[in-house]
Amino acid sequence: MLNDEDLERYARQAIMPAIGEEGQEKLLAARVLVVGAGGLGAPVIMYLAAAGIGNITIIDHDDVSRTDLNRQVIYNDSDVGSSKSRRAAEAASAINPAIHVSQLNLRLSSGNATQLIRANDVIIDCTDNANTRYLLGDTAHACGRPLVFGGAVRMEGQVSVFQSSVKGHAGSPCYRCVFPAMPDAKQAPGCSEAGILGAVAGLVGTLQALETIKIILGKPRTLTGRLLLIEAAGSDFMEIQTTARDDCSCCGVASSASLTDSFADN
Ligand SMILES: [Zn+2]
Repeated sequence: MLNDEDLERYARQAIMPAIGEEGQEKLLAARVLVVGAGGLGAPVIMYLAAAGIGNITIIDHDDVSRTDLNRQVIYNDSDVGSSKSRRAAEAASAINPAIHVSQLNLRLSSGNATQLIRANDVIIDCTDNANTRYLLGDTAHACGRPLVFGGAVRMEGQVSVFQSSVKGHAGSPCYRCVFPAMPDAKQAPGCSEAGILGAVAGLVGTLQALETIKIILGKPRTLTGRLLLIEAAGSDFMEIQTTARDDCSCCGVASSASLTDSFADN
């Protein structure tokens, strides 16, 4: 049951038949893990806090630097040098004191990923490095959790949802099906080398927040099985249909055989 303050705070979204009080209760009961509190994480955290996602866990091991401020709009100039996870959690609580926000000032690793992912309903990939993305993709598949992927560099963005082992989404791809090979730094330069416009990161992060809310509400049409590509320079939005691959080393029929192969190699 929503209390009087909830009814007032969420009035403009709960009034929509697509959400209603029942949908708002689902949002308040949800547990979401935001991995990375940078250019994508900033809008994700703010919109999810404002929408009343009841339990948000933020993980980031970094501190705020002045070069972050062109896009990481959850931080102020006075935050430079402070822990991102702590300041992002404080900002989320300031937007909405009624929700529970926890923060982890550490790096996602193979040692903590499974426990963290299992403890949450939806996982949001707001990271900026390939190793963490593959770890998230593989672990979210193993744990049966939806993964909301986003990436942004220069004037380009990508958004998708991976639910390869989530009930009702059989046959949809995992992260590795769509990105089978880890790119090297030359193929996929980061924001520090290639640059990034804040509004582009904001656009991608906002779409990630939107997909997360739709997943929690049980909406049928998300970006599952689709990769949205944004070319902001021309304001072009394109879409690629994505499919599961039989030879995927994470979810494919050959994945257990390839494990045996790799043991045989040793
Ligand atoms: Zn796969």
